[in-house]
Amino acid sequence: MTKEEKKALLYSPDHGFDRFPQDEKETMHTYCENYKAFLNCSKTERECVVSAVRLAEEKGFVPYRYGMKLASGDKVYCINRAKGIMLAVIGEKDLSFGANIAAAHTDAPRLDIKPNPLYEEAELAYLKTHHYGGIRKYQWVTVPLELHGKIVRRDGSEVSVSIGADPDEPQLVISDLLPHLGREQGKKPLNEAIPSESLNILIGSWPDKEYDGSDRVKLAVLELLHEKYGITEEDFISAELEAVPAVMARDIGLDRSMIGAYGHDDRVCAYAELAAILQLEKPMRTAVCIFADKEEIGSEGVSGMQSEEFEHFMAELCKGQNVDLRDCFAASFCISADVTAAYDPNFSEVYERRNSAYLNYGIGLCKYTGSGGKGGASDASAEAVGRIRSLFNCNGVFWQMAEMGKTDAGGGGTVAKYMAKRNIDTLDAGVPVLSMHAPFEVVSKLDCYMTYKGMKVFFEQN
Ligand code: MN
Ligand code: MN
Repeated sequence: MTKEEKKALLYSPDHGFDRFPQDEKETMHTYCENYKAFLNCSKTERECVVSAVRLAEEKGFVPYRYGMKLASGDKVYCINRAKGIMLAVIGEKDLSFGANIAAAHTDAPRLDIKPNPLYEEAELAYLKTHHYGGIRKYQWVTVPLELHGKIVRRDGSEVSVSIGADPDEPQLVISDLLPHLGREQGKKPLNEAIPSESLNILIGSWPDKEYDGSDRVKLAVLELLHEKYGITEEDFISAELEAVPAVMARDIGLDRSMIGAYGHDDRVCAYAELAAILQLEKPMRTAVCIFADKEEIGSEGVSGMQSEEFEHFMAELCKGQNVDLRDCFAASFCISADVTAAYDPNFSEVYERRNSAYLNYGIGLCKYTGSGGKGGASDASAEAVGRIRSLFNCNGVFWQMAEMGKTDAGGGGTVAKYMAKRNIDTLDAGVPVLSMHAPFEVVSKLDCYMTYKGMKVFFEQN
């Protein structure tokens, strides 16, 4: 055996930057700038849908209407209750040959405003919150916040809310204890030091001067809201308002090799899918790109990946071709495009170094997620992993295997199991993230780009 042959026996990938093709550097740069722009105007699942529609229509996608006749090469999208979207490019082959499906989620951990949120205490006005998804509560205090969402008023009319993103607009914040008085708090475990009911957002401090009743600061805030949005206090009950970190996507590192932002999980994969399907012209197999909602709370509800809205859309596409939906699913393949944990040397004790994903080694393939012995994982087959591995190897897509962390350290899940349950072969794949679920998460540009490239070759697959 030669030295080269011996080396080929070992699995030890080189750093992505060392083998990155010179002629793709500009493409990677442009891709990442576009991704940052997408993030900056897509801070909630609703805004992700708006952004996706804008970009898709520029590329000739049209809204799907039930019963519409479609031909190969046609590009359609279908919005699910303003919070999810499915885009499809119809293939040359009919749907009995299956579809290439990529499913990501665009909801992200955040602080939702409670149905009766507004109160005054010590002449300060606050909004009470109920956190959405898995957050580390101590990370959300003293972080500037924006408020985004929708209010349905008493008369049924709707108004969209966005406060804090524009530099001229005010922002909101949750206060924290000063260290001088934090002796007792400092002794508590991290997950108890900031109780959920203390995550109250400071929203005003000036009273209504004319009013002589109580709660004059609260009233002054309501007056401002009434003026701007035409709402009364009762209207909060039919509102979905989300407090999200007031941060713009920024390059991280002196070498600008990374991107810091809120909501990389999972908009970094959602954007990769979207950018890939927008490039597609006449694929052999029908390509489907999904932005799902509610993944962070178990993919529940009508806008989550467990919803039959997906069957509804796919069955419609199949019906137009006289294909049974079950035959289509059985022949389809799904990439559950979701982020994974990147190895963090500051917390090496929770990672298993030989099976962790690292920044700059490309898209992470997760054979299984789950916790406590693969509990809750769909556990992709060797064949499913083999198929994607070979596809990526043949097309210059850098990839790595990824387990979230040590088996006993915890775990997590994705939409993969809900796709697999539909009799669709499914593999998890996505970008490794540092500080996942924090108000400011970090990813590597190279991994973002490789995930996009991976989605593109996946959609182009025959
Ligand atoms: Mn995710
Ligand atoms: Mn998540």
